[in-house]
Amino acid sequence: MAMDPAVGILEPPPEFVNSAQSPNSMHPQQLIKGLANDPGSNSCFLNSAVQLLWHQELFQTGLNQLTSHLCSGHRSCVFCALKLRFSDRPTLDAGVLRSALAAQFSDRFQLGEMDDSAECLEQILGRLHFHLVRQQQPQQQCTAGHCITHRRFGMDIQEERACPRCGFVQPGPRFTQLTHYAGALLSQLRHMGIGRANPSPDVFGLGLRKVAGAGDLRACPKCGGGGGGGCLLLRRKLLSRPDLLCLGLVWDSDRPSGADLGDLLANVGSTVTFG
Ligand SMILES: [Zn+2]
Ligand SMILES: [Zn+2]
Ligand SMILES: [Zn+2]
Repeated sequence: MAMDPAVGILEPPPEFVNSAQSPNSMHPQQLIKGLANDPGSNSCFLNSAVQLLWHQELFQTGLNQLTSHLCSGHRSCVFCALKLRFSDRPTLDAGVLRSALAAQFSDRFQLGEMDDSAECLEQILGRLHFHLVRQQQPQQQCTAGHCITHRRFGMDIQEERACPRCGFVQPGPRFTQLTHYAGALLSQLRHMGIGRANPSPDVFGLGLRKVAGAGDLRACPKCGGGGGGGCLLLRRKLLSRPDLLCLGLVWDSDRPSGADLGDLLANVGSTVTFG
């Protein structure tokens, strides 16, 4: 959300041009844009996360203004790797960041191994928080004003379950999340009569809210309403105002059709109104 859709034309990184592979033997597109992902490096998951951060001007400017941090050494510090990434344009190879992640997580993100992009993004942001607040605050409900992880992405959520019949409210846990995961969103939007032919990004937030409370019905302890199906609805209150909403879409298939993707993307607006 709040993404800049522009994709700039970038110069080739020096290490790309100076590599053993002759630039003349490469396709011109390889020289001017994109993120390096050499055969066997399996860096597509990391490149996806870097691409998301790259396009967030708010994130980049915030990072560029920061220097003080708890450094774990240039070969393993995610903060330093990201600074290199964003301040030394147009270096495209995320290899420094990849090496830093491999050093930080002995059981994940090892060189050459495939991994999950969404989890990679969360771990990058989690490491940034660690470097910036120097372990003085846990990630939950971080209030450090200079922590771009939580000021930009942090969603403080209060869960509760409510009975629409008698008004009973059962408080739930409070937690912080960096990504909001939504499943069955396309079905919900179609149920609301929205598709590619009649896109309506204004109600995208309403669709998000509806799927967040769906499929979690419990019997009300006060009125017992709902019979076997229960009637308590899950509600999540957003208590903070992050600058950016990172949305993770959960599909019921690992190969969603082009039509499904088109229908959903046509309704994703740059601003989300939840009310
Ligand atoms: Zn550092
Ligand atoms: Zn933080
Ligand atoms: Zn009730």
